[in-house]
Amino acid sequence: MKPSQVGPSLSRIVKCTVSWDAQIRNLYSVDASSYVVKPQVVAFPRNESDIVKIIKFARKYGIPVTPRGAGVGLVGSALGRGIILDMRHLDEIRLGDDHVKVGSGVFKGRLDKILQTRNRFIGPDPSIGPHCTIGGMIGTNASGIHSLKYGSTIDNLIQVRMVDGSGTVINFPGNRDFKKIINKIRSSEDVSFPKVSKNSCGYRIDKVSLEKDLHKLIAGSEGTLGIIVSAKLRTYPLPKNICLCIIHYGTLTEAVRDVPNIIKLQPSAVEIFDSNITKHIKIKIKMSSKTGCLIFVEFDNMIQSSKKKIYKITSGQIIKTETNRDKIKKLWNFRNSALAYSLQSITKNEIMPHLIEDAVVPVKRLPLLLKILEMISKKYGFKVIIYGHAGNGNLHVMSILRQRDIHRIKNIASEFFSGVISIGGSISGEHGDGFARSEFVKMQYNKKTYDLFKQVKKQFDPKNILNPGKIISDHSAVTRNLKV
Ligand SMILES: Cc1cc2nc3c(=O)[nH]c(=O)nc-3n(C[C@H](O)[C@H](O)[C@H](O)COP(=O)(O)OP(=O)(O)OC[C@H]3O[C@@H](n4cnc5c(N)ncnc54)[C@H](O)[C@@H]3O)c2cc1C
Repeated sequence: MKPSQVGPSLSRIVKCTVSWDAQIRNLYSVDASSYVVKPQVVAFPRNESDIVKIIKFARKYGIPVTPRGAGVGLVGSALGRGIILDMRHLDEIRLGDDHVKVGSGVFKGRLDKILQTRNRFIGPDPSIGPHCTIGGMIGTNASGIHSLKYGSTIDNLIQVRMVDGSGTVINFPGNRDFKKIINKIRSSEDVSFPKVSKNSCGYRIDKVSLEKDLHKLIAGSEGTLGIIVSAKLRTYPLPKNICLCIIHYGTLTEAVRDVPNIIKLQPSAVEIFDSNITKHIKIKIKMSSKTGCLIFVEFDNMIQSSKKKIYKITSGQIIKTETNRDKIKKLWNFRNSALAYSLQSITKNEIMPHLIEDAVVPVKRLPLLLKILEMISKKYGFKVIIYGHAGNGNLHVMSILRQRDIHRIKNIASEFFSGVISIGGSISGEHGDGFARSEFVKMQYNKKTYDLFKQVKKQFDPKNILNPGKIISDHSAVTRNLKV
């Protein structure tokens, strides 16, 4: 079918809005990543039946389909050249005592507000705050500040309802049709995964050994295995009291060396910022001009004893402890602006592609990660800004490159990722693979593991129409669709 025929033909078979207007296509050609890809059509399904029809149509004509939530993913995983499915209308919320059933297009902010009236919350909390959707969070296996205590999306997912690449509606767990793939995963020897606290690279077959785990395979699958219609997620009671300690260190290395001791106290969050970020902080704390970096440590349990203990164990200087909820919220807002502050640091001829921004390593190896980074940034002559989820060993490294150095991106990524893998890490802790990292998934995992990923993909999407080129990829995409 010719691209110009896709929109009119699709609109004849579904009741929902389908747009192939140039302005809409431009709007959906970008997300929060550094990439741009113009789709042929954008569809706004109103229900499951629309999705099934669209998938069957796409499968018949071999047209790629990419689901999209809020489009705030950082690696281009919601961009595609075929049909984009904007999931906003799948917005139903049904509250349970200790869980919530949500449509995949539900915005986290709306869910948070409703849960708050019941004194509850969901665990994963990406720093984009209210502006992402449940489908996108599942798609990337998003985490966030409090994932140290409450886990990533994968750890909080209880059920998934989705439409696979053949247009079949599937409920997980409890679907016996996937016994074969489970057996393959279970019986495979030499499957190896990094021993890290969070991981959004590849398919999480490490979490799937029984049929009851199958829904976990969908977390982090970036729309490549199915279009999520709805999901059931765990909820938690809001903590009664919280306390935030701000610790100052002379250097990043000193700070990350302290993290293994701090996490022994079981905090709910441990976040780090370098001086590029701390200089934006506009609250009254005693910060000397020598501030190399800060760590924020939050406790939401055993506050008094944890506060006492942290003074004893830290090698840094505690410059503030705060227990007022509103003030703590303001401090976290500062943390949530770290990416915006980073963007303010680049000049006209520079770019800051999301590329090496999401590595995660065992916490004890954070000093090694910094060494690897120092070596590579010196070799290629680029500056970095560092912040992130230190308690999980997950550092967001914003690399500031000159526009004319774009041709070096692949080498930089390749060398950095090989360093990360060599110290037992994963190339993505929470943002996923997308255009930036899918070609490096083969580097992360051994051949047996990667071959299993391919079989998983084939089982769910035999015609490869669901977000092709993401996670399983034979082509290099890291610079192909970069916007400069
Ligand atoms: C300032 C900023 C801060 C951020 N901080 C964090 C952070 O702390 N932690 C973190 O984990 N992430 C963070 N992110 C990344 C981003 O917030 C997450 O990736 C988020 O979950 C994306 O949600 P979305 O709704 O925008 O998804 P999109 O970007 O629209 O989609 C993401 C992926 O999910 C797939 N998808 C979407 N809906 C469905 C569906 N219904 N079915 C199947 N697949 C689907 C898409 O195809 C795509 O592959 C940050 C981003 C920004 C811009």
